[in-house]
Amino acid sequence: MPRPIRAVVRPAAISANINRIKELLGNVAVMPVVKANGYGHGLERIIDGLREADALAILEIEGATRLRHLGWNKPIVLLEGCFDQADLLKALELRCDWVVHNHKQLDDLEVLAKQAPAHKPRIFLKLNTGMNRLGFQSAQAQAAIQRLDEFTLKHQWPTPVLMTHFANADEAEPRVRLPFAQHQHQALMGLKPAHWQSSLANSAGSLNFPMLAGDIARPGIAIYGATPGPDAAANYGLKPAMIFSSEIIAIQEVKQGDRVGYGSRWEASNSGRIAVVACGYADGYPRHAPDGTPTYVEGHVAPVAGRVSMDMMTIDVSQIPNANVGSTVELWGGHIPVDVVADRCGTIGYELLCAIAPRVPFFKA
Ligand code: PLP
Repeated sequence: MPRPIRAVVRPAAISANINRIKELLGNVAVMPVVKANGYGHGLERIIDGLREADALAILEIEGATRLRHLGWNKPIVLLEGCFDQADLLKALELRCDWVVHNHKQLDDLEVLAKQAPAHKPRIFLKLNTGMNRLGFQSAQAQAAIQRLDEFTLKHQWPTPVLMTHFANADEAEPRVRLPFAQHQHQALMGLKPAHWQSSLANSAGSLNFPMLAGDIARPGIAIYGATPGPDAAANYGLKPAMIFSSEIIAIQEVKQGDRVGYGSRWEASNSGRIAVVACGYADGYPRHAPDGTPTYVEGHVAPVAGRVSMDMMTIDVSQIPNANVGSTVELWGGHIPVDVVADRCGTIGYELLCAIAPRVPFFKA
């Protein structure tokens, strides 16, 4: 008999989330980010939910190949563009566009143009406006923009897009996040040629500052129904795209003072019932989940009680008489937002969603 653990992916939720983001953004193109196999959801499971998107952004050519095989015909933008000439030819074959963030990549374009490719890619020129990760710094930006502008005019490639990435748009404190996003927006707009488009907003930018999104928004986590910060996704009208669940496989009756699990971390303050759930850190549930991290059983919240082990975890179901062997335990999804579990564990929902182990079977709802 297979273990009862499972992750169910709901493309309809992704489609609803994209529409919600479109509603928030108004007249802005939406290019969801589907890197890391669609933030752990599986490209083949989410593709039906992506149809409303205007383009997709992904990291690697292998992912772009899969998207084309899945029938995605609209633009694909490769986000880092760290490729050699062979990769770039493959990218052209796949009709991809891509991000350029250094002069070597601009040189590569000159080499490509000599081959008069059938697909002329749209180049996203990335500026470093304060994230200090990838991109041209302001001192070099003007020259890079001019070079790319002349290049695209000469070879009749599509007009480029000037892009940057918000560093703090997900800060909890609006007084921190807004001024820095405004600063990054101004830095980009001050350099953008009038005939170019712009692309700034990630999820946090799309949700918190739609007016700074630019022409093309790049939401990632929000399309999966989670948020980059502590704000509840439901407050923005987003729906969880993944339900991660398992079942109770044993019940232990405990007396006051009994301890549970490795390290005897959890102690019963009264007599009660501990449910053993078929999910452990080898399935992707965080080992460092503290006592009290919520799960959801038979209509009630049941807190983690004791250290998560490799294949099992223990939850306190003393207050849930219906909880029994075979009861479904939601680890995150519809009732327990992944952001809440992540917050308890000192991480972000992204990490949990991307870290579900290969041994967990996935299904599409
Ligand atoms: N844009 C770029 C360049 C990214 O690297 C990412 C993800 O890391 C995103 C957009 C989407 O970010 P988020 O998932 O926070 O919306």
